Amino acid sequence: MTGVAQVEANLQAVRRRIEIACERAGRDPATVRLIAVSKRHPPEAILAAHAAGQDVFGENYAQELVEKAEALTGVSVRFQFIGRLQRNKAKDVVRVGAEIAKVDSLRLAREIDKRSRAAGVVTPIHLQVNVARETQKGGCGPEEARPLLLEIRANMPALEVRGLMTIPPLGDARMHFRALRELGEALGLRGLSMGMSADLEEAIAEGSTEVRVGTAIFGPRPA
Ligand SMILES: *Cc1c(COP(=O)(O)O)cnc(C)c1O
Repeated sequence: MTGVAQVEANLQAVRRRIEIACERAGRDPATVRLIAVSKRHPPEAILAAHAAGQDVFGENYAQELVEKAEALTGVSVRFQFIGRLQRNKAKDVVRVGAEIAKVDSLRLAREIDKRSRAAGVVTPIHLQVNVARETQKGGCGPEEARPLLLEIRANMPALEVRGLMTIPPLGDARMHFRALRELGEALGLRGLSMGMSADLEEAIAEGSTEVRVGTAIFGPRPA
């Protein structure tokens, strides 16, 4: 595992990258939220980042998320589930108070809404859009985002749609970030979760409000 001092130095470097990207784009760095992606790293890595002022963490696996949330009870961190959520795991993810970044179907949205109402919480979500229409990737088609949003707003009071998210094709990120921003503008959604370790600058240039950064903070993930 990357040591405490290294995690702190890495976090500072990532914050600096965000500041510089914001300066270039004429944006206020306070408008870009940093999600530290801690998947496959131990709870100690989260504690190291927390000691350096980081409070939101991204996780991809429901079981791992629940274990870490329990291990860190009493520590003021929150989680965003950024993996592909199976409907039978929605209950667990909602129970630990996590935000959910990849909602791409009515069935999944209904399940999260139902579980959130049962738990008496409102769950912040992002709608995942497959901007490049890559067959192997999750996300709804761009034309499906509006009907999904309208149905959620009309009938799912325990969901708070924070915005859109996407994972662009390798090596061709910027035009897809732009397409997500334009879709967000058309839908009146300002929140844009886009950008990771390798492409956060391009994402911020296109209006990202949440970057999800793992490797640049915690180092390579254990196998
Ligand atoms: C793992 C992951 C990240 C972080 O990727 P890095 O390249 O390590 O910064 C961001 N978003 C999602 C959805 C991920 O699964």
